[in-house]
Amino acid sequence: MATKLGVIDKARSEGRSLLTEIESKELLREAGISVIDTKLAASRQEAISISRQFGFPVVLKIASPDVVHKSDAGGVKLGLRTSKQVGKAYDGILAAISQKHPQAMIQGVSVQRMARPGVEVIIGVTKDAQFGPVLMFGLGGILVEILKDVSFRIVPLTKRDAGEMIRQIKGYPLLEGYRGQEPVDVSNLEDWLVKLSDFVEQNPEVREIDLNPIFAYSNGALAVDARVILEEPS
Ligand code: ADP
Ligand code: MG
Repeated sequence: MATKLGVIDKARSEGRSLLTEIESKELLREAGISVIDTKLAASRQEAISISRQFGFPVVLKIASPDVVHKSDAGGVKLGLRTSKQVGKAYDGILAAISQKHPQAMIQGVSVQRMARPGVEVIIGVTKDAQFGPVLMFGLGGILVEILKDVSFRIVPLTKRDAGEMIRQIKGYPLLEGYRGQEPVDVSNLEDWLVKLSDFVEQNPEVREIDLNPIFAYSNGALAVDARVILEEPS
């Protein structure tokens, strides 16, 4: 509880409604969502020592409340296998961001382990003027970006609603283990949808959530990116 208020209060006191990846993950972890362990490094040396603690390979990402789409800005480096690669990635990210977002307030770089590949899914929460919070579910990558293969439900959601919502997308067979891919633990994803539904009901100050991507496995799932946006203060 203390942490949750901490994250929201800190953003508010800085006049921000966008939480960083690290702050968003902290908040969602408290909602019972599995997020990949992520730590902030404020220097190149710190990025290297955190990477050593986590164990290689790792991922580095820009940590800035002013950079919403991190990879578009050159702010994500995947699969780093040595301290040397981490150091180089740290410098590379800061150089790219200072070019693309010269005004950005930079907290540092977030460090996390490289997650085992899974089936990429996304879950989002937005608020509809008429219906209030709405959950979205879809498969990651081009299925969402190009084909818009997603389903929606109004909060609150039961586990049964969540099950229907997942089975409603056209790409559902991909979750059942298409062409040798591992079948996904769908019941676990249903639990995620219900937990997020409960979370937004209990936290009306949250305006938007974007978990993109989540790696879904045959035993659970892991969110590797998260973004939370708060309501503007009234
Ligand atoms: P953004 O959406 O802001 O561009 P992401 O954090 O989603 O940045 O990273 C971009 C992509 O990198 C993700 O879609 C995912 O495919 C990959 N990725 C990010 N974090 C990890 C991780 N910890 N392990 C493996 N792949 C990752
Ligand atoms: Mg993302």
